[in-house]
Formats: sequence, C-alpha cells, structure tokens
Amino acid sequence: MIFDLHSHSTVSDGKLTPQELLARAVERKVDVLALTDHDTTNGIALVQKEIDDNQFDIKLISGVEISTCWENKDIHIVGLNFDKDHPAMVSYLENQSDIREARAMEIGRRLEKTKMVEDVYQGSKAIAGEGQIGRGHIARYLIEQGLVKNNASAFKKYLARGKVGYVPSPWPDMKSAIDVIHQAGGQAILAHPMGYKLSGKWLRKLTIAFKVAGGDGLEAAGCQLAPPHRQHLAALALEYDLLVSAGSDFHFPSSWIELGRNLYFAKDVTPVWTLWPQYADAS
Ligand code: AMP
Ligand code: MN
Ligand code: MN
Ligand code: MN
Repeated sequence: MIFDLHSHSTVSDGKLTPQELLARAVERKVDVLALTDHDTTNGIALVQKEIDDNQFDIKLISGVEISTCWENKDIHIVGLNFDKDHPAMVSYLENQSDIREARAMEIGRRLEKTKMVEDVYQGSKAIAGEGQIGRGHIARYLIEQGLVKNNASAFKKYLARGKVGYVPSPWPDMKSAIDVIHQAGGQAILAHPMGYKLSGKWLRKLTIAFKVAGGDGLEAAGCQLAPPHRQHLAALALEYDLLVSAGSDFHFPSSWIELGRNLYFAKDVTPVWTLWPQYADAS
C-alpha cells in the first residue's frame, strides 16, 4: 500500500486545489492520503467530498502541518488522524492564522524598507486568496514584481532565515502543538527532519526535545531523501522509540517531487499507521 501523509493544496501554499490534488493522488495510486496544509484543516472536507462524490478508491486521513519554534528555528509538526473539529484544535489553528497574518504584514514592512518593492502584504494576500498566507505566496509576489526569477532565489535572497524579509520565528513551542494534536486524538510527527539543515548533533538534540515534548514519530521517508538520510532517520526512530511516517510534502507538479513516490523506509521501523486499526497490518 502507498501512504502519502504530507501534502499541500491552495488552502495553504500548494498550487493544486484540494480536488486537483486528490485527482493526482488517485492517478499516482496513493492508497492513503493526508492533506497537511500549513496551520489549517480547511481543505480536508473538500477532499473528502470529492472522494465521496466520485467514489474514489482512496482513503483520507485528517492532517495539518503546524508551525512551531524550537531554538529560534521554525520546526514543523505534522498532526495526523485527529478530530479536525475538536474545539482545542480549532482555536489553536485560529491563533496560528492570526500569527501568519501579522507575520506576513511584518515581512512586507521589512521588504518595503529596501525601496525595491511595494504593497507586499496586499499583493501576496491576493495571490493567497482564501488560502492560509505563507512565505510561498510572498515569494510568488516577488517573482511577479520581477525582483527574483524563481521561488528558490526569493527565499535565498529575501525570505530565508537571516535575510532582509525574515521575521524571527513567531511560533509557539513544539509541546503546545503536540499537546493539541493529542487532545484532538491524533499523532504528532516531526516533519522533514533533514529539511532543517542541522548537524548530526543538533538533529539528535531536536529528536530528543521532540520526544520529551511527547512527539510520536519522525517523518523518515520522502521522495528525494537520500538512502543514508533514510538510514539515519530510521536509526534515530529506533533509538528513541519513535514511530515513523512517510510523506512527499508535495506542493506542485515538478519533476523531482511527486505524490506517493519513493516513500519507503530504510529499516524495520514501526509506521504510525500501525496504530490505526484499519491499517494495522498494511505494509
Ligand atoms: P512558512 O510556513 O510561511 O514559513 O513557509 C514555509 C514554506 O516555504 C515551506 O513549506 C516551503 O513550501 C517553502 N520554503 C521554505 N524554505 C524554502 C526554501 N529555502 N526554498 C523554497 N521554498 C521554501
Ligand atoms: Mn509549504
Ligand atoms: Mn514543512
Ligand atoms: Mn509541508
């Protein structure tokens, strides 16, 4: 079975609508999908409706990718298989949205000070539409305005940590995100642990902090994860008695990231879905 438990739609910074994302997942033969938009669950009902209306042979697990702060770094926690309407989760994500709005305005002010660009917040907001605003939308605005050629250079020149448009991580700590996922009945997964560009020593520190905060599992399979990195993450999961999860972190069609692609684990680890009765025996 193919589990892809990390993906984005236009409800946050992805480029496919929830319906388009679902169609692509079906086409790519994904069996179990989680839509994990940044700090919002607004797309989940749309995907479920699309499945029901078309009687697609795919299962949807509720998901969200929560932004947190640890050691002044943005750390992402994926929540899976929780009650998206749980009041504690709903109010937590409302607060996250408020932080996103305030941060986007502050990024805008910082970029406007360079005198190279105007109306950053309004322009980015127009691109985000109804979606949860993020740096991805601001990057698209900077491309539209001709400041940069592509998303990678928007981050490299303006939006990444330490650059002129960067706002120090405004997010709550990991424990609050893990707690709210648990309150809503789900599992908390440390998203793309290799994505933070930490040394081995710091990755271990992060894993320990995540475990101490009550985290359940590490994302140990991704489309592009190099075999030694897969080995390393599986070994960390075993060492710290953590489950593992698998996700493409799909944002838009490209030749390097695809729904359901290459989501295998390096070792004999325990997937998070073994906790879910209907998938306990899936391999
Ligand atoms: P935000 O949640 O608004 O802080 O934005 C984080 C998102 O921006 C990630 O989920 C990626 O989609 C994108 N992103 C972060 N860093 C980079 C980068 N260096 N290059 C390209 N995209 C990035
Ligand atoms: Mn993103
Ligand atoms: Mn992320
Ligand atoms: Mn993601």
